[in-house]
Amino acid sequence: MGRKKRVAIVGGGATGASLLWCLTSQEGPRAEIDATLFHDEATVGGHSLTIPVCFDRNGRGRLTTEQDRVDGNTVYPVDIGVQFICESIYPNVYRQLALPEFAGAVRLKRHTALKMSGAFGHGRIWGNFGEYQAAPRFQCFDTETRGLAERFERDVRRAPWLRVEGRRVATMTVGEYLDTAGYRRDSSFFRYLLLPYLSVINGYGTIDLLETSMSDLFPLYTRIPGLQSDGPYVSFTEPGRGWDRFEDGATRWIDAMVAYAEVRGAHIQTHSPIERVVPVKGGVDVYWRDVARGGALRSARYDEIVLTTDMRTNRELLHHDDNPFWNLQSDFIAERCFPLLPGVCYIHQDEELLAPELRDGKEDGQFVGTYAWGDIDETAQLYGLQYDLGSSFQTFSMQNILGTPAPCWVSMYAEDRRARTPDPARTIFSRSWRHGRWVTSFFRKAKRDLAQVQGIGRIWFAGNNTTMDSQEGALVSAMITAGAISSWRYPFSRFSTAYLMYRHLRQIALGGRRPLVQWNTEADSAAPRQDGESERSST
Ligand SMILES: Cc1cc2nc3c(=O)[nH]c(=O)nc-3n(C[C@H](O)[C@H](O)[C@H](O)COP(=O)(O)OP(=O)(O)OC[C@H]3O[C@@H](n4cnc5c(N)ncnc54)[C@H](O)[C@@H]3O)c2cc1C
Repeated sequence: MGRKKRVAIVGGGATGASLLWCLTSQEGPRAEIDATLFHDEATVGGHSLTIPVCFDRNGRGRLTTEQDRVDGNTVYPVDIGVQFICESIYPNVYRQLALPEFAGAVRLKRHTALKMSGAFGHGRIWGNFGEYQAAPRFQCFDTETRGLAERFERDVRRAPWLRVEGRRVATMTVGEYLDTAGYRRDSSFFRYLLLPYLSVINGYGTIDLLETSMSDLFPLYTRIPGLQSDGPYVSFTEPGRGWDRFEDGATRWIDAMVAYAEVRGAHIQTHSPIERVVPVKGGVDVYWRDVARGGALRSARYDEIVLTTDMRTNRELLHHDDNPFWNLQSDFIAERCFPLLPGVCYIHQDEELLAPELRDGKEDGQFVGTYAWGDIDETAQLYGLQYDLGSSFQTFSMQNILGTPAPCWVSMYAEDRRARTPDPARTIFSRSWRHGRWVTSFFRKAKRDLAQVQGIGRIWFAGNNTTMDSQEGALVSAMITAGAISSWRYPFSRFSTAYLMYRHLRQIALGGRRPLVQWNTEADSAAPRQDGESERSST
């Protein structure tokens, strides 16, 4: 048998871990590939980051210490990124978690009713549950607003066959639907219900909210019998149903996949940020900092590399004179193709971040525009709002969702200097992110075009940029890549929505793959010659 193909995987988030699992869970790829995962931080997780939090007798939260574990203190797994997943939109994740290697190790817990609220300037408050709709103070949930909300939901549910003004709703963006169906942009429904929901779905600080497609919303506002044990997941008028959490936190899923792969021969290098990727004749040279050993610069040659990192990081790794393919790649991974959003999250105990009128602790999630009232940014101008959508934020209550013994919140923001943020003295942890879009329709052209440079210079792009920004998007992206670089075969029933999801996203990611250059022929000869197959190190 010939030498195994050496593959470097960059990034130990959901995509990198899923790819390791794919490459080690089937005999074919296991025999063909020797995989090494490079991760920049000390522990894997990425956007699936769970922070263990403990509370003292006075209810003050803190990061869990070794002593807490020795003392047997209760540890609460607070997810600072991923909060929820659900059956019909994450079919491959659910099928994977039902496999014997994950059963028991990665548990999901149903959050039966997701109560959401919104608060804006001058008492404009509402919720998607009875207590936050009926009383007079919920003035922005009046009869007209309820009527528009119910009509919108009904039309999303009927989108596959509904026509408005002769046009199929399923082919429309939300903006086109609203205009065609005659919704007013100055209605409370548009300003205080729909736009905040679209922000939560697409990512905080998103400008092109109305580009969301009606078919993106269909699975959220619908309950499909046979595919969902509960639902709909999202509603303006009643709590969302059918959402699950990773009971021990999302990092548990990543850890389980990495541990599975390591036992089957994969190599894991944490504390090893990749700095440079250089395609050379017959392979690709990978340079990383060995943080655990004083930060020495090390390098090794691989046969192929998979970048699961975001496109900005990818540009940093590939943009240099020694990459003969940069001119080909640069247009396809440019900022304008994948405009990622900077975001920041806090785990905190600052009650003053909640809207003053909504501090009863009844809801699981609260969208707060109150502190951005009168602040007119680009989105406010675009949508005729009196508050700055980019300085609004979403807060999840860990007391209601996780059962923490004292109030504790996770607040998610667009990175915006003007937004009100938690008091540092009451902040337990914070983290900034760069994220893509949760729904598939965004970056569709860029995702399709990317196929043309996939594999060129033995470099593959994977991750949520290439599918959708979710745990399902990460797993499916890993599956698509595993199929492209090895004999990996789709492992679940092909008579399933999981397979349809995989096929749909593979069609987008690789369907039009007509590489500009064949990497194993022209690319090799185009690449500069370099010597030395063995691992090298220098400072
Ligand atoms: C605030 C927030 C909330 C979210 N909520 C949900 C949710 O409720 N449900 C859901 O399904 N999804 C949610 N998502 C999206 C989900 O977290 C992501 O789509 C998914 O986890 C992305 O996984 P990934 O592996 O593609 O990327 P990442 O998790 O970003 O992994 C990439 C990894 O690469 C590492 N890295 C970066 N540079 C280098 C380098 N030079 N060398 C080596 N490693 C490097 C990073 O540390 C990172 O770990 C949320 C995301 C955020 C930010």
